[in-house]
Amino acid sequence: MRQLIAGNWKMFGKLADVTGFAAAMNAAPAGVDLLICPPFTLLERFAAALKGSAVALGAQDCHPTPQGAHTGDISAAMLAETGATHVILGHSERRADHGENNAVIRAKAEAAITAGLTPIVCVGETGAEREAGEAEHVVRSQIQHSLPPGFAGVVAYEPVWAIGTGRTPTAEDVTAMHAAIRAALAAQFGAVGNAVRILYGGSVKPGNAGALLALPEVGGALVGGASLQAEDFLAIARSALRG
Ligand code: PEP
Repeated sequence: MRQLIAGNWKMFGKLADVTGFAAAMNAAPAGVDLLICPPFTLLERFAAALKGSAVALGAQDCHPTPQGAHTGDISAAMLAETGATHVILGHSERRADHGENNAVIRAKAEAAITAGLTPIVCVGETGAEREAGEAEHVVRSQIQHSLPPGFAGVVAYEPVWAIGTGRTPTAEDVTAMHAAIRAALAAQFGAVGNAVRILYGGSVKPGNAGALLALPEVGGALVGGASLQAEDFLAIARSALRG
């Protein structure tokens, strides 16, 4: 399976950053799928700048309903209209900042699929949960409750304690968790579950990407901070080919 390297710009980036970043993506290596997920305000500009490029465009959240009186929210259909093809859902920052639970994330994933978007659903344990030996249990439960029936999207395993900290789990821990996620997906969705890409996310940098992407069942990376610099993002993409 080709690897997917997805960049999550979070609440960073200005209109003036788009053209240069998109132009740098002309040097993207073939053989790996690239996706950039900027803030809502940059989607249309990115869609225009990436026209004709192999780099796909995604958003960072959507509302579970197609339209309505939801001030400040954006529906999946609205995202699709901008040219986005993917949407990140259930990122731990949204779970923490906006109280999103598995049921809400599942409803958002259903809305995304209905609008023709590929959902990237994030799961991952906190540091306290890992220390308590609860990591796999927590992640299995998130898989069970936040993915809708027939889920044919992407799952991102992002240990909360590794996001933006410079810390990463050991190779053994990543391998064990990705195997557990694969088993949970296969049990829940059968053959469809075997085709779901499982990304690793949490402090992926050019210096550690090769080792992480080479691990079994790691189908790519969800990259936060390092995706803001085109050169770092491309270096991570090149590592995927060596993985
Ligand atoms: C993320 O926010 O999805 C993420 C993985 O961030 P970082 O790469 O900065 O740890």
